[in-house]
Amino acid sequence: MGLIASVPIDVVAIDGPAGAGKSTVARRVARTLNFAFLDTGAMYRAVALAALAAGITTGNHRELQHFLASFPLTILPDPAGMRLFIGDREVTDEIRRADMGRAASDYSQSPAVRAFCSARQRELGRQGRLVCEGRDMGTVVFPDARWKFFLTASVEERARRRWTELRESGQPQDAADVESAIRSRDAQDMNRELAPLKPAPDAVIIDTTHLTLNEVADRLLANIQGRGTK
Ligand code: C5P
Repeated sequence: MGLIASVPIDVVAIDGPAGAGKSTVARRVARTLNFAFLDTGAMYRAVALAALAAGITTGNHRELQHFLASFPLTILPDPAGMRLFIGDREVTDEIRRADMGRAASDYSQSPAVRAFCSARQRELGRQGRLVCEGRDMGTVVFPDARWKFFLTASVEERARRRWTELRESGQPQDAADVESAIRSRDAQDMNRELAPLKPAPDAVIIDTTHLTLNEVADRLLANIQGRGTK
């Protein structure tokens, strides 16, 4: 008996380390294709924000599972990106705090957190016509995505982008601290047991170090449209 080949779904899966340009590129691609956009890192950040506030540690599997069983996370699409609410409270800006990237990375190692986020992501992807970005889109959440990309860039360039972003959002940081935070978060994301950061075997890998994010978006679009959208 042969294997049953799965039918690809209309999902553009974009993975890569912090500062590779995933979010900006994904938004542009989604806008051009008129697909929905999903920033999955924002979901991990929201879970981390709430779990920290509730005093639940990253290794407390049972308590995290219980907490997430009734976690009131709402994701609203928005032309500028995505808005997130925990209950009635909007956390869109709060989850962008400099320390929340690391907290998200810490909590994202928990099987309970991964199960919660992946299930929500698959629910959102069920309709297709979705551009999503994160660490495990092409490998774990949407292995059947029709288009898969992995964006990389040198750590210096990624740190420079993150430093600029933080400064522009009114959270100036020391450049060397930003770079070392990125290095240690990437190492944790690449070496974890569950859904480690790595390219899917069938992903198109793009080094964005010397490209503008518009150029990167154009490359993705050329690749997607060259292979045909429905
Ligand atoms: O993309 P962003 O930097 O907002 O992600 C924050 C953290 O969330 C990442 O460092 C990673 O540990 C985690 N994450 C993940 N899987 C995803 C998206 C994000 O584990 N699909």
